[in-house]
Amino acid sequence: MMIVLGLEGTAWNLSCALVDEVDVIAEKSATYVPAKGGIHPREAAQHHAEHMASVVKAVLDVARKDDLAIEGVAFSQGPGLGPCLRTVATAARALSLKFGVPLVGVNHCIAHIEVGKWKTGATDPVVLYVSGGNSQVLALRRGRYRIFGETLDISVGNALDKFARQVGLPHPGGPKLEALARSSKEYIPLPYVVKGMDFSFSGLSTAAAQAAKKYDLADVCHSFQETAFSMLVEVSERALAHAEKKEVLLVGGVGANSRLREMLNIMCDERGAKFYVPEKKFMGDNGSMIAYTGLVMMKSGVTTPLAESRVRPGFRTDEVDVTWQ
Ligand code: AMP
Ligand code: MG
Repeated sequence: MMIVLGLEGTAWNLSCALVDEVDVIAEKSATYVPAKGGIHPREAAQHHAEHMASVVKAVLDVARKDDLAIEGVAFSQGPGLGPCLRTVATAARALSLKFGVPLVGVNHCIAHIEVGKWKTGATDPVVLYVSGGNSQVLALRRGRYRIFGETLDISVGNALDKFARQVGLPHPGGPKLEALARSSKEYIPLPYVVKGMDFSFSGLSTAAAQAAKKYDLADVCHSFQETAFSMLVEVSERALAHAEKKEVLLVGGVGANSRLREMLNIMCDERGAKFYVPEKKFMGDNGSMIAYTGLVMMKSGVTTPLAESRVRPGFRTDEVDVTWQ
């Protein structure tokens, strides 16, 4: 069985993992938590540089102890924060040279999808990918993950985090808003923006911060979730109908939200589609998803020559030929 090492570090989480074709063998992460405000790209990159040796060592120790041969080094090539990507790519190049094995540049969004499929058994889903940096509805069509709908401005995770900051809650705001929303009694109307198959969240975040000056915070959190998640579910439902798929896969950090899951579950039930969510540890950014995607790419014959290993901060999901499906 092939064994690949993967390195993730597009934003807040530096993570190194070792996987084979069946499971995760080892994973070690170091999480950057901003002292105040949101993620600062250079500070996050500094964090990753400081912790790189220890997370890599922890994984290599397992490989050495079990006498495992690493056959490839995968890294998240983009999209993500430039300084963070460069730190990770530098380490990945060094490891690939050290072990004399191929380098594989992985698209971070595709890695979320592939690990989701691997860990849930979904085969050909419409994917709702909602995270701190991205919000997209995708499905595989003619060899690429086509983007059916996406955010026109900021991601839903970013909108939740921004709103949380404006009402004085620490980063990341998503889980805190979810907890507060549970005690809400009332829905306050907020801007619902779906244009064609795309959505927008920046107006919602601003309007919610305004509403929080007048209304109960729990009610605003609840209303924020109901509005934002309804937008996501509407577009996912239309993609399901349009692409004629029978599965929905939820991935990305915002997918941890139980209300979002509940809403998607209801929609899937009504449509006779099957709903898949991976375990929580595979939802947010993690090294295993990069290692696994690198592995399936390598098995299909794809590697990344050193000369083509420059980072790609704006790397789009639909630029990648899905050679492994
Ligand atoms: P990722 O970029 O995929 O690692 O996801 C990080 C994002 O997920 C951040 O914006 C968090 O606020 C958000 N998040 C994490 N847990 C939850 C939750 N329970 N509800 C809503 N958003 C969440
Ligand atoms: Mg992510």
